[in-house]
Amino acid sequence: MADGAPAGPDLDGVTGAVPPAPAAGRLLDAQAPLFTADAPHIYTRAQWKARAPKRPAKVLDRAPDHIIVHHTDTGNSTNYSLGHAFSLSRYIQNFHMDKRGWDDTGQQLTISRGGVVMEGRNRSLASIRSGDLVVGAQALHNNEHTLGIENEGNYMRAAPPGRLWASLLEVCVWLCREYDLDPGEAIVGHRDYNDTSCPGDALYSRLPALRRAVADRLEGSAVASKPRGRPKHKPKGKPKAPPKPGGGHDYGNPTQYYQGDGDWPGLLNLNW
Ligand SMILES: [Zn+2]
Repeated sequence: MADGAPAGPDLDGVTGAVPPAPAAGRLLDAQAPLFTADAPHIYTRAQWKARAPKRPAKVLDRAPDHIIVHHTDTGNSTNYSLGHAFSLSRYIQNFHMDKRGWDDTGQQLTISRGGVVMEGRNRSLASIRSGDLVVGAQALHNNEHTLGIENEGNYMRAAPPGRLWASLLEVCVWLCREYDLDPGEAIVGHRDYNDTSCPGDALYSRLPALRRAVADRLEGSAVASKPRGRPKHKPKGKPKAPPKPGGGHDYGNPTQYYQGDGDWPGLLNLNW
């Protein structure tokens, strides 16, 4: 869908907030394909020049039951380029591997403020396409049934830019289709599971609007494309208990890791 912006979310009936309008021609790079649920273009690890993981990620033969929205708590950059997005992914991978000691990037997907959608942890893209779940490191005690999306920026007060919002919406539509999830139940914020401010008050307050916008898109596409395609969804196994607040902070106090580190200047505090 190169010639039109995806349908925009309506006014959020729950909070009254007006979600950011999706921006047409979201990326600065003229040649860069946009991500849409109908033509999901994800920039690969090879494209952003990921390091090899310490070991291959664990893949579970089942779908996740929740999609967790995070913010990176990095600067609200106005650099919407592909180059910036790729450097963000490298930064996060280095941070997770070298400072956290993890095998690889923690989250399965990353979205830059320019709306660039990138594969995070190794095997994530192939697993989503086959209806499986790569076990990430993004929600303490809940990694074996959730998939995490890191959204670049800090959204305690600021609203996410339209470019990012549009991609997040489309990614959630895509994931709900691939995994046969109900967006009203599946889309949650990191703070629903762990003791963290992530994904920020402003973004968290927009999750009801996100759920509704995703549901509207799914509804529209289900009507438009009947009969539905391949029945490839896997049994989801036992229903999980709803998310419980609290349960400890997964990342400790991350500010200790990055003081005066200049290799990614936008990043001051990592409260993911
Ligand atoms: Zn988080």
